[in-house]
Amino acid sequence: MLFSVALHPFLLDLQKNHSSTRVLAYLDDMFFIGPMEDVLLCLNDAESSLKEIGLNVAIEKCELLCNGLPDHPHLDRAIRVVSSGTIILGIPIGHQHYVTETCLEFAKGGQGLCDELASLDDPQSGMLILRYCHTNRINHLARSVYPTLLKPATRFHDELTKATFRELVCCHDIGEQQWLQATLPIRNGGFGMSSMESTCPIAFVSSWARSLAHLPQSFGDLTDLVKNIFRAVQHPGHNGSIASHLLQALPGNKSLVELINNPKKLQQKLKSEQTEQIVSSILSNPLSQRSAAWFRSLQGLEAGAWLDSIPSSAKLALKPSDFRLATRMRLGLEMPLGSVVPVCECDKDIDKDGYHLLTCKTGGGPIWTHETLSSVWSDCLQHLKMSHQWEPRNLYVNSDDRPDIVVFDAQQGCDIELDISVAHPWALHVISRAAQEDGAAAATREVKKSEKYAKERDVWGLPSKCIPY
Ligand SMILES: [Zn+2]
Repeated sequence: MLFSVALHPFLLDLQKNHSSTRVLAYLDDMFFIGPMEDVLLCLNDAESSLKEIGLNVAIEKCELLCNGLPDHPHLDRAIRVVSSGTIILGIPIGHQHYVTETCLEFAKGGQGLCDELASLDDPQSGMLILRYCHTNRINHLARSVYPTLLKPATRFHDELTKATFRELVCCHDIGEQQWLQATLPIRNGGFGMSSMESTCPIAFVSSWARSLAHLPQSFGDLTDLVKNIFRAVQHPGHNGSIASHLLQALPGNKSLVELINNPKKLQQKLKSEQTEQIVSSILSNPLSQRSAAWFRSLQGLEAGAWLDSIPSSAKLALKPSDFRLATRMRLGLEMPLGSVVPVCECDKDIDKDGYHLLTCKTGGGPIWTHETLSSVWSDCLQHLKMSHQWEPRNLYVNSDDRPDIVVFDAQQGCDIELDISVAHPWALHVISRAAQEDGAAAATREVKKSEKYAKERDVWGLPSKCIPY
């Protein structure tokens, strides 16, 4: 920032002395735009003035972008001349073929990271790195390059994401429907493997909607260009190039003016509308009751928190095999049980959907989940220095019921009774409701628990309030 501040007076001077050249700069990157002779004079001038303040122009790093090969008296130096295009602030500018190829090359640059991730035997870390460092890697291109020119790059990028995901979690049987689910954000039941091909029109139109209103303010001579874009978007048929790309990228039910008037977090807003459409398209497919209830349960609060957990300690780390199994279950893929049907300790068959293992009290699935949750609560309370008791006996007069944890809340002067309950949306009494509404199994269980504890407290004439978490 200090560098930019110090450079600013020099740039203003340079612009004043070279009115036929546009001077643009970002930190120490400078761009001179105009007729070649003027641009070269401007460069000469810049070089000598910068020397006076102790800065040298690295001429071998400069590029002169022009149509055809220039033959000019001022051009007797090591400056590189390019005619197809150049990269400005990470964005290729130039002929269509150049732009498309450069973007594709950039997308291919993600291959190295993805190859490393695919061979990593730690899917939990791998998935976080894939999500944070790869999936949005070409977002800056999507915001600036015409979506049609970016297509080969977005296709390559998305295929790379999918192949790496498949390797990391060993889900080689992942189908189209499961991959569509994986591209959803985590809170919507996905894995945050966002598809660049579907993001790029939204990113492009959002970026323009945000800039269009400001362009004439910063660059007076762009006023006509902006006016033309508006005219062309409103009266399609004689479109300019930018306008026709904006029209193609505009979501069907939106107008450009509407988006320009509301440019704040536009890409995010349009993306979440797109996500809602995908979620409702999945749910409006003829799904079995089980599939619908299962997909709805993934929309629950923090149902995907395990995917956000950074394995910085043993308690936050999942074993690779557990992580892969949890991934398969989230995607609705069958469990890898082999050819012989395994039998549970309770003598019932173990099904490939994992329902028996998650609900059988003999096999221990729900008990393990329950005990783990209790100990997490206990750890948190201990951390907060709140004294508490596990499953205290003889708490109630009329029954042997024991809440899982009782905390004494010194501030309120009363007990807080914690009861941890593990419900499954496929249970017979709740599945038809769970297929229709989110969180039905948990809500049903809450009502039951709340009635039970209200009865106990009634005996003492104590107030009772049930707070679902
Ligand atoms: Zn069993």
